[in-house]
Order: sequence, then C-alpha cells, then structure tokens
Amino acid sequence: MLPDRVHLREVGPRDGFQNEPETIPTAVKVALIERLAAAGVTRLEATSFVRADAIPQLADAAEVLRAIRLPDAVSVSVLIPNERGLDAALQLRDRFDEVNVFLSASETHNRRNVNRPVADSLAGVTRVVERARAEGLRCQGTIATAFGCPYEGRVDPARVAELAEALVVAGCEEIAFGDTTGMANPAQVRSLFPRWAQALPGAELTAHFHNTRGQGLANALAALDAGVTSFEASFGELGGCPESDPAHPPPRIPTGNVASEDLVSMLHEMGIETGIDLGRLLVASRSVQEQLGRPLGAHVLTAGPVEWHAHA
Ligand code: ZN
Repeated sequence: MLPDRVHLREVGPRDGFQNEPETIPTAVKVALIERLAAAGVTRLEATSFVRADAIPQLADAAEVLRAIRLPDAVSVSVLIPNERGLDAALQLRDRFDEVNVFLSASETHNRRNVNRPVADSLAGVTRVVERARAEGLRCQGTIATAFGCPYEGRVDPARVAELAEALVVAGCEEIAFGDTTGMANPAQVRSLFPRWAQALPGAELTAHFHNTRGQGLANALAALDAGVTSFEASFGELGGCPESDPAHPPPRIPTGNVASEDLVSMLHEMGIETGIDLGRLLVASRSVQEQLGRPLGAHVLTAGPVEWHAHA
C-alpha cells in the first residue's frame, strides 16, 4: 500500500551547494531558500556550520540564517559536524528548528570525511544531540554510506542498525539513511528499510538517495514500497560528498542527490501528495541554473511537468 502523502526535505542549499566550486553569493542562496519555501517546501536543510576552511561555500551559514524570511510552517534544519559547529549555530538559536548530525557506517569513509573513527564520531554526535535537545531543537541523525561504501564496498546492515539505535538513544527522532555515493539498488532498499524499521520503533526513517548511477528514483520507489514516507532530495540533482583528506581526493564522479523535481513529479503522478507546487519548484531551480550558468541535472527541468491532453 502506497502512502497518500510523504515528507520531503529539500537539501539543495546544503548538500547541493557544498559541492559547488564557485562561491555563490549569500543573497542568491537566501532568495533561493525563500523561493523553495514559497513552492511549498516545509522541510529545508538551509546550511551547515562546518569549518569555513573545510567547505568555504558554506562559510556564510550565519548570514544565510539571519537573512532568510520564511513562513512558520517551514522547519529549517542545519547540519552540525561537531560541538564547535553547534556553538556557532546556537548564536542564532531562534533562526532554525532542527539539527542534522552525521556519521558514516564505514570506518574508512568516516576517517576520510571527518578524520576520526566512527566510535569517536558517535561520542561527539551524542554530545551535540544532548545539547541541542536541551535547547528544544529536534534532532535528525544521518548515517552516510548506509547502503555501501566507495572504499570498503559492502556495509553490514546490522552495523547500520546498531548505529541508528545509538543515535535514537542519544535523542534523534529521525534517522536518515544515506546512499552517499549512489551504490544502493532497489532490491536492497526494499529489504533493508523494514529491517531497520523493526530495530527502530517510533523513529522516523528517511531515505536519502544519490542518483550517481541513475537509480535514485528506482530506489525511492522501493523505499515507498517498504513503507518509507520521508525523503530527502536536492533541486537540480545538485550534490556531492566533499572529503577533507587531501591525500585522498574524492572520486571525480558526480554524486548528485536524487532531483527534487523528478521525485516530486513521480510522486504526484502516482497520486502521492508532497505539498510542493512543481511549477514553482521549477522556477526556483531555473534561477539557480542561470546563476551557475549551466543546465542542472533534473530531467523534469528539461522536459517540463507531465501534462495530460485530451485526444480527439
Ligand atoms: Zn547526500
């Protein structure tokens, strides 16, 4: 049985923009976030409080949060890598609603991403979540490489469940399972989500797919079949996974998120509500296309929405 409605969190302003080499002006980011909200996006990952030298593109996190004017219905989320990031974010406590903390399921990816073992990440994340909860913030935990690791290959689903349980115990109400480099397949997605759901009663389970190998929508459909009603996506299929270890540069393949436009189009055509106006979402994406000076990856941006015409 498919759901009538799903939650969709737009992560383009963070997961999408963090991989763009050219600095995008703060005012452009702010206008985009406001357009996304006007299109009906009610969950929005706006930025990340990472070190400016690690990801210069998001160095304006505080300015973005200060400037955006959004309807009350929008829940603004920020990605928090560590306690120092939380300290910076809490200067603007009234400007956001949720924090997203993260770690990788595989040791090698975690070390190359944040330069420490998974156990240390879990300890750090637990402290961040405790403090964020004390501030009344909703907490989401993201597990990267949950379906496979570009360095280690297979990832043990029981290990992913164990980390997810630890995040829930720490205080995360929502767990996002990230297919960080697009290694998941629909059969795997269909079998893993019910297993994880059983291990995590009461938690909201979110699917975060990258379309690296063109299987993002197939995986989203498999997740729907498996009972998932919460998704993350990026307009224009933007996205990537910058890693901080210069000795191990990331693979030069695009690892964009599943495109919000394509996911919204598929869901609506299937009769599943998202609350998002696809036409207005396309307007928001086109504004970024103009700013970046290149076509973005979403198919529906090129083809336009499905329109049913009566044939004589
Ligand atoms: Zn991602």
